[in-house]
Amino acid sequence: MGHFCVNCGGPLIVKLIENRELEVCPNDGYVLWRDPKVAAAVVVEADGGIVLGRRSIEPGYGLWCLPGGFVNDDEDPAQAAVRECMEEINAVVELTGLIGIYHIGKTTASSIVGIAYRGRLAGGAVMSAGPEMLELGTFAPDDLPPIAFPSHRAVLDGYLRSQALAGPAPLTAAAPAPPASPPSPAPTPPRPRRRR
Ligand SMILES: [Zn+2]
Repeated sequence: MGHFCVNCGGPLIVKLIENRELEVCPNDGYVLWRDPKVAAAVVVEADGGIVLGRRSIEPGYGLWCLPGGFVNDDEDPAQAAVRECMEEINAVVELTGLIGIYHIGKTTASSIVGIAYRGRLAGGAVMSAGPEMLELGTFAPDDLPPIAFPSHRAVLDGYLRSQALAGPAPLTAAAPAPPASPPSPAPTPPRPRRRR
């Protein structure tokens, strides 16, 4: 609270608008809307693992995070996700799906709407650590290092859940057909169970 108008520089006063306490300019009606910021992050799949970067900046110095960052107002969030990958892991990433949308509530700054994608390295792309990363690593999904942000932890959990829902490939489909000679009817193979 206690902000100034971006139009006339005058002090804002608190008013009730749409049942919310907001700061308003009494001179020209400017409203300081409390909007969330939008961020994008990508779970990049490479070598059977997940690409993470160890942060060289605060917050979360020395801890690991997904490539990602804030969406600019002229960007599609998917474009921002690809751009952030280029900045943080120096590689062209193809997005392959949406993992989910996450609300990250904050009290001392704008809350964040986080959009999490799944992606993979474009053909021939080689990664290297961008300036905000000390190093990059590719981790097995069940052996992840300390993650810098609870929101990225939630994205990874969502990713792992979606992988589990997809289920293992039904092995019976690929098994060779049993020889037809025995006269007794072959037992019906159990249907592959889908985890829900
Ligand atoms: Zn004003």
